[in-house]
Amino acid sequence: MNISTSKKVRGYAALDPKSGLAPYEFSRRELRIDDIGFEILYAGICHSDIHQVREEWGPALYPMVPGHEIVGVVTEIGSAVKKFKVGDRIGVGVFIDSCRKCRNCISGLEQYCSEGMTGTYNGYERDRKTIAFGGYSNYFVINERYAVTVPENLDLAGVAPLLCAGITLYSPIRYWNVGKGSRVAVMGLGGLGHMGVKFAAALGAEVTVLSHSPSKEVDAIGMGAHKFIHTKGDGWNEGLKKSFDLVLNTISAEIDLEPYLQLLDTNGTLVVIGLPGKPYALSAGTLLDGRRSVAGSMIGGMPELQEMLNFCGEKGIVSDVEVINADYINEAYIRTVASDVKYRFVIDGKTF
Ligand code: NAP
Ligand code: ZN
Ligand code: ZN
Repeated sequence: MNISTSKKVRGYAALDPKSGLAPYEFSRRELRIDDIGFEILYAGICHSDIHQVREEWGPALYPMVPGHEIVGVVTEIGSAVKKFKVGDRIGVGVFIDSCRKCRNCISGLEQYCSEGMTGTYNGYERDRKTIAFGGYSNYFVINERYAVTVPENLDLAGVAPLLCAGITLYSPIRYWNVGKGSRVAVMGLGGLGHMGVKFAAALGAEVTVLSHSPSKEVDAIGMGAHKFIHTKGDGWNEGLKKSFDLVLNTISAEIDLEPYLQLLDTNGTLVVIGLPGKPYALSAGTLLDGRRSVAGSMIGGMPELQEMLNFCGEKGIVSDVEVINADYINEAYIRTVASDVKYRFVIDGKTF
């Protein structure tokens, strides 16, 4: 047990939507009795970081230290901490707190907290006055309820993206009961999409990747996909209509959903996961035909986050990553937006 005083932290921050990220120093709070302090070893770059830094989801809060795919090793614990000890491998995802008492929080769906989850960055902590700074930094402090244990057998760099990309695909794949015989299509083979392929394949589904990048075909098959479709030009979906139970949309850009909706068989569901800023248009006729559904899904709650990591531990699943130094973040953003990442950039925490 070790109570620290507030610590100086080195990170990277955006100060406005246009200038990119630059080195930034700040402090984290002193440990409370149920807090853990940990050294960040890796932090993934999620496309949501880019959307928020660039204000593609509306006005943002600066300075912004992004990063919600965080892994490291516990260095300090508060006196009441039960789940962790110094030296444990730990992960933190997209939220750092929630009300803890609404129906959703009590049932482990903290991401849907009725008061709103407390995001890991781009907002205030629950005191409504301390800016929450995320994982692009070398040290973190969090209440133990909002941290998870990382299985010992998994490579830590490859685990970081599981904290957002992983859980965000695991949760709908479980909710819609993907298993042997399920026909699943994954739209977009990026950070989220490639985790969807791995999970659906590991559960025995028939997996098809729908991608606008033909160069990703070999990788997709290597990840467990059975088929790869290049979504180029009108009519790419001919021959595929009414042939899927579940279509998982992880595309970060504005697209026309119609050709994808047509892929659903009777009672099939298209799950919206990608979050471009603008609304989608839906054709009523296509929805009615075959009792199709369009649904949404947002990350996952704390129990499911731990369940997903345990599942990855059992199956040996991690993300495919390119580890970078902190001074490469701006370049990594450009390459991510250009769909040129295989398949997640992860920042080495020692380079902040
Ligand atoms: P990413 O790594 O950049 O992957 C997005 C993929 O979308 C790209 O690799 C590309 O795949 C495809 N794509 C990009 N531009 C396209 C275009 N113009 N036309 C067609 N396809 C295009 O992003 P990510 O980190 O996986 O995040 C994906 C989206 O999910 C983002 O909008 C992010 O904010 C959102 N998100 C949502 C949640 C949630 O809880 N629902 C959680 C995290 C992230 P191909 O090259 O294979 O075509
Ligand atoms: Zn994310
Ligand atoms: Zn709540």
